[in-house]
Amino acid sequence: MKAHTQYLTLHTRSRHEIVNITDRVEQAARKSGVKEGLCLVNSMHITSSVFINDNESGLHQDFLEWVEKLAPYGVDRYRHNLTGEDNGDAHLKRTIMGREVVVAVTGGRLDFGPWERIFYGEFDGMRDKRVLIKIIGE
Ligand code: ZN
Repeated sequence: MKAHTQYLTLHTRSRHEIVNITDRVEQAARKSGVKEGLCLVNSMHITSSVFINDNESGLHQDFLEWVEKLAPYGVDRYRHNLTGEDNGDAHLKRTIMGREVVVAVTGGRLDFGPWERIFYGEFDGMRDKRVLIKIIGE
């Protein structure tokens, strides 16, 4: 069995942002040499997400507005912020949008549905964050 591990570093310019990381994951899949297997992609931080959906900017704005309604930013709004942090909202947003995705590798390529792409969802940005890519198979 082959195994390939790679880390991406993301540093968004704004606190909340959605970044298309599909090309970087495809590059990692090619580099792995795996023809048949599985590709795991996860955020290594508890205030950001990795998810699969459509590459459509209106939808991305919808996601950001939706999670903001469910868990609005606010220093005095969350018990977590009594620790001195201000990112209670980001922990909740991350949980809603998910930690990781797994994509099948078939014939050496990520086996997506027609509109599926991989996105990094940042909810407490403007600093370095890491994403893990792990590809295993034959
Ligand atoms: Zn926190």
